[in-house]
Amino acid sequence: MNKTNFMEVTFKALSVNEGFARVAVAGFCLPLNPSIDELGDIKTAVSEAVTNCVVHAYPKGNGMVTVRCELENDEVKIVVKDSGIGIKDIERAREPFFTTKPDEERSGMGFAVMESFMDRIEVKPNENSGLVVTMYKRINNVVAKVENA
Ligand code: ATP
Ligand code: MG
Repeated sequence: MNKTNFMEVTFKALSVNEGFARVAVAGFCLPLNPSIDELGDIKTAVSEAVTNCVVHAYPKGNGMVTVRCELENDEVKIVVKDSGIGIKDIERAREPFFTTKPDEERSGMGFAVMESFMDRIEVKPNENSGLVVTMYKRINNVVAKVENA
């Protein structure tokens, strides 16, 4: 039986909204009955993706971030999207320790963290401008409470 659920939130690219995004996604994933560790992994990955939008996407100021979350059976799919400057060489940006902001205490580990805490991530350019980060994680021991509407 296919059980799906979906949510999307859009907010300003401000660091004050990083906590909101973490908690919103974590709350949405609760029907899959994740363990504390799984929930922690998801929160950490969402934090890294949203922080990147806040820190890197809009050097000239104002911009928006959209976080979309889909539950399908025992898998969570999280999409974090911005319309900012994007990344020219995505492959290089994904390498551990690569950062364009070494002087701002950035360690270049954001993508590496997302990759290790989630099952799989995809990083692609957004349609017009900006970046789309898609992350997948399978949750073990699902108690199926999500019903199709
Ligand atoms: P850390 O995450 O450890 O604080 P970091 O953000 O520099 O450091 P990553 O998250 O791995 O490291 O990102 C690597 C690089 O990719 C960034 O330095 C930045 O140049 C670029 N980048 C990441 N996300 C975005 C984004 N949403 N828009 C534009 N550039 C981005
Ligand atoms: Mg980062």
